[in-house]
Amino acid sequence: MLSRHAVAHVAGVDVSTEHFIGGERVGSDATFVDLSPIDAQPLAEVARGGDREAALAVAAAREAFPAWAALGAAGRAQHLRRLADLIDANVERLAAVECADMAMLLRSLEARVIPRGARNFRAYADLAAAYEERVWESNGTRNRVIRMPSGPAVVITPWNAPFMLSTWKTAPALAAGCTVILKPAEWSPLSCSLLCDLVAEAGFPPGVFNVVQGIGEEVGAALTRDPGVRRISFTGSPETAVHIGTAAARNIVPFTGELGGKGPLLVFADADLEAAARRAAGQYDDAGQVCLAGTRLLVEGAIEDEFLELFDRFTDGHVLGDPRDDATTVSPLIHPDHLARVEGFVERARANGDEIVRGGRRREDVGPLFYDPTLVLPRSNDSEIVQHEVFGPVLTFQTFADEDEAVALANSTSYGLSGVVYTGSERRAERVGRGGSGGHAVGQHVPRARPDGAVRRGGDLRHRPRGRRLRTRLLLRPEDAPDPGRHDGVSAVDPSR
Ligand code: ADP
Repeated sequence: MLSRHAVAHVAGVDVSTEHFIGGERVGSDATFVDLSPIDAQPLAEVARGGDREAALAVAAAREAFPAWAALGAAGRAQHLRRLADLIDANVERLAAVECADMAMLLRSLEARVIPRGARNFRAYADLAAAYEERVWESNGTRNRVIRMPSGPAVVITPWNAPFMLSTWKTAPALAAGCTVILKPAEWSPLSCSLLCDLVAEAGFPPGVFNVVQGIGEEVGAALTRDPGVRRISFTGSPETAVHIGTAAARNIVPFTGELGGKGPLLVFADADLEAAARRAAGQYDDAGQVCLAGTRLLVEGAIEDEFLELFDRFTDGHVLGDPRDDATTVSPLIHPDHLARVEGFVERARANGDEIVRGGRRREDVGPLFYDPTLVLPRSNDSEIVQHEVFGPVLTFQTFADEDEAVALANSTSYGLSGVVYTGSERRAERVGRGGSGGHAVGQHVPRARPDGAVRRGGDLRHRPRGRRLRTRLLLRPEDAPDPGRHDGVSAVDPSR
């Protein structure tokens, strides 16, 4: 049952608009329209899966599971590495399609974001082999742990980094021996379709990797309630996570959620203010549609004016425009509905008495889906614009008097995920990163040398009021940095985002 529009021509690339189930392209009677954010015009008519396609994909993944599991980590790693090589060989095509579909800056896609997909497959291929088995002695007993795959895993991804996030979430499942059914977001479904072509070319057995296209509430919901599924991994909104978590609970299936961010970017008076302000203005990149973005600027009161002057200078330097142009630094928002959502946040802030100190309007003069980089001085920390994820080019600005207040503000929303601290003092960075006095640090802080000599650290912070995950990145001045030559760590946070 093939749809009439099985292939779309996007940015000079032929992209299948069908599902990929059991190693074959499968169409649907129904389709949905995928828009390009660059001009808000239709890009493709994509197969709109439902109960039938979900059931077919789960059946294919179940059938493929035993042989894939039996291959062992080393056998599976060969497939994953072949796929990584093919991603590297197709960066330009993948980036061109992703840019047309999602409007992330083309140069970022080509230089970092798409190649990161290849790195994900290689990294998890290695990790799975290293984790497969563990043997140790305790109290005279020999213990042996063998890690076993669970079965078919449903992976549901968001629209803001569709290719990178899909590889990041499917690679560990595949490396571990699970088979996968990926449901990409309906606003940017195309690069994952190209990934299917590469999976086939890499020689994956049919049914190991499946993609079902469609609307979240339809085929996404059908997949998550299917009793044949053994794992669910999701990145998206907390509201959707409640639906998916409930469906998972009904089948007693483990569910992993990564649910948005409202990250603080803290700047202390002893920091390199120029670097901090440049970084703060950089949070408008990708039109702020990044869950790791530091959207709450928290700045020590003593340097408020100086910081804002620098911030304005860097923000004035932004160029809104076509993501394919080298000069562009801020791209359009993904979809008219999302633009309306972002605008709604700003208009409610205005009505609430929060002060819009820059931006706060659409930029139809640039294109249909542009919104001006916006800075809001909230009336209070309880303002909606401070507490809720906007996911657009909208930052809030607040000041703090001392370190304790900085930490309290940083931890005062229910969204965690990421924090960035600018200070000249390594000890302060350490304290703030650990959540202030009494904070209980978990995980390891692994220094990572940056080309400019500063140091980035990744680690987890468990000092959270409502238990959501907060990752922290600490940025120090070069003179505070340990010898970069001694460290070769990997940041807990994707260094490219
Ligand atoms: P966002 O706000 O980032 O669009 P959503 O949570 O709406 O986030 O969507 C993230 C992903 O979840 C998308 O792939 C979407 O299709 C999917 N999705 C939305 N609703 C459901 C649902 N009820 N069940 C399963 N998946 C869903």
